[in-house]
Amino acid sequence: MTQLLDLPPLRDSLTEHGLLADKSFGQHFLLDLNITRKIARLAGPLDGQTVIEVGPGPGGLTRALLEAGAKVIAVEKDPRFLPLLEELAQAADGRLTLVQGDALKVDEAALAGGPGHVVANLPYNVGTPLLIKWLTGPWRPISMSLMFQKEVADRIAAPVNDDAYGRLGVICQALCSAKVVMDLPARAFTPPPKVASAVVRLDPLPERPPEAEIAALEKITAAAFGQRRKMLRSSLKLLGGEALCLKAGIDPNVRAETVPVEGFLRLARAL
Ligand code: SAM
Repeated sequence: MTQLLDLPPLRDSLTEHGLLADKSFGQHFLLDLNITRKIARLAGPLDGQTVIEVGPGPGGLTRALLEAGAKVIAVEKDPRFLPLLEELAQAADGRLTLVQGDALKVDEAALAGGPGHVVANLPYNVGTPLLIKWLTGPWRPISMSLMFQKEVADRIAAPVNDDAYGRLGVICQALCSAKVVMDLPARAFTPPPKVASAVVRLDPLPERPPEAEIAALEKITAAAFGQRRKMLRSSLKLLGGEALCLKAGIDPNVRAETVPVEGFLRLARAL
């Protein structure tokens, strides 16, 4: 039986199966195993761990995750990749489960059957909704190591007072520690996308705020960063303005980009 390390190069597997990237699925492949192994290392240690991978495509990252000793559940929407991925499953001694479907609709708790990590080179058009699902949904990943467009990765991990600091960063950092761990130029992908990419590692904090507080945080950040040049007393007017800020111990005369995540959490609790 073929072993993982004896599998043909990814480019050859794609040619053998007559597969070309389809833009409508956001397909930009990583065909260099040195890169996918580095991503698996940054996501680790994964030996014996369960990993949900979204969008395995030709399986470059999947191979690296399996080599790292993970048990992988790979959810792929494009059925054309299933025969190629079956070959990988046969070389993986039962550690690769393939699921054909839309990752936005799967029930991760049922798939993983317990705790697990998420590692993925995400399709750009569904990256943020998937992240929000993993951040706020019923199944809480142990960690997430996710490839995004560089600009989105920077927004997720941006510190207060940074130009990229905004709604996405506040919500992610209220729930996780978030760090950009790897930058990748567009030419690392086949075909190359228009923009550079980066991997963000997110580790959920031990305590998740209650649902009502997360909902309030979403409202507050939408209003505050929707008019980011205005002072909070005015951008938060419909939610209580100055009185709400004072209740939360926040200066109503500052702008959203100067308020740390903890400040937004206080505003959410006050709301
Ligand atoms: N992981 C592969 C790699 O690194 O070479 C492929 C990454 S490519 C950027 C994104 C992959 O996600 C494609 O294989 C695409 O078909 C798949 N995909 C797109 N939308 C999806 C969805 N909603 N659910 C599951 N997979 C999806």
